[in-house]
Amino acid sequence: DQATVLIVGAGPAGLVLGNLLRANGIDTLILERGSRERVQTRARAGFLGANSARVLAEHGLDAGLRQRGQWHYKCAFRDSDGQFELNYAALGRGEVHTVYPQQDLVTDLIAEYLDRGGRLRFDVTVTGVDPKTATVRHLDGQSKGRFLIGCDGSNGVTRAAMPASAVRHARDHGIAWLAVLAQAPPSMSAVTYAMHDNGFAGHMARSPEITRYYLQVSPDDSPAAWPDERVWAELNTRMRVDRFGPLRQGPIVERRVVRLRSDVVDPMRHGRMFLAGDAASLISPSAAKGANLAIMQAEVLAKALTDAVATGDERGLEAYSSTCLPRIWRAQEFSHWMITLLHGPSNGPDAGFQRVLRRARLDSLRDSRSHQDFFAENYVGI
Ligand code: FAD
Repeated sequence: DQATVLIVGAGPAGLVLGNLLRANGIDTLILERGSRERVQTRARAGFLGANSARVLAEHGLDAGLRQRGQWHYKCAFRDSDGQFELNYAALGRGEVHTVYPQQDLVTDLIAEYLDRGGRLRFDVTVTGVDPKTATVRHLDGQSKGRFLIGCDGSNGVTRAAMPASAVRHARDHGIAWLAVLAQAPPSMSAVTYAMHDNGFAGHMARSPEITRYYLQVSPDDSPAAWPDERVWAELNTRMRVDRFGPLRQGPIVERRVVRLRSDVVDPMRHGRMFLAGDAASLISPSAAKGANLAIMQAEVLAKALTDAVATGDERGLEAYSSTCLPRIWRAQEFSHWMITLLHGPSNGPDAGFQRVLRRARLDSLRDSRSHQDFFAENYVGI
């Protein structure tokens, strides 16, 4: 198996990159561990920022987004003192989110990539990687590219093949969320972040029929410990439904515990291999940035690879890490800022102090226009 560009992983990073390369006529092969059915039904992200919507639109990849995506432009913060909303479309750069489930985006991207003549092999698990020769091994033998792109997520084999000299800046925030999907319409028109002594709770629309909720849980908690009744009871408490109105309940159709972790691989390149998406940088879901970063990197890399293949100009590839890393770190910084806003320490000697600090930060976000502009710019943008 040979290809000009060999991509491992058919998530948002690999598929956006594959589509952009095909649009430029570049021979591309994607190897994906999962079945087509599996990758097209894996629910994860939903909130796409303005830059992601632009990339998809500019490259003819937004038909589904335009038909079924929903614009979101405000979010709400709730705690014991009350609730306030931020209409971020009227703040910062005036940008909005498009809410479109990741599995629907992946489904659209696969169909379009195949239409553009891209090659994609499902059910192929890459087991070994040689970054110097851009070669990978799998059960069927080996595949070789002129360039190899690792889009296989944060536990993938490509980042494991980075040399010891590449730094992995990593942080485990010591916090976990139970992420559930409820078969129920959204309960509020805005994303809602609730701060409570029991822990954080979040509400995020996904579609008219499905809503994502988050509950902060202990990092060693298991999804099995959270039957439907317990999930709804705890959401009702933390969302303070007695004060702000009921949630629209329905069966929980998916539940998983997500540990809030972040890391950045620097540089994002070794030999003929380049990392993109979660493979290059895992970001906690606190600010909904992961898929957006993946799309941003795919756009930068597609341009650089096209220049290299078409004219032999490798300057874009040489600058790939230094182009992407500052934007990745901006997103990491904001994501970390959100973590400290949403989670108070439940114990420890300075828990009381931290709680009041968080209160002061929320007050500032509620009252200060410049603080709100900062929030809006970072929340929707990268
Ligand atoms: P992935 O989507 O992980 O794709 C990697 C692919 O590589 C997979 O298909 C995998 O099967 C394949 N693969 C792995 N190993 C191999 C191998 N050895 N051989 C072959 N194939 C392999 N981000 C947002 O922007 N907005 C949100 O609202 C948001 N919400 C989220 C909510 C949750 C609960 C979670 C968990 C994440 C959320 N994210 C969000 C993050 C987002 O889902 C990820 O950042 C995004 O999926 C990264 O895309 P990717 O293509 O880099 O990796």
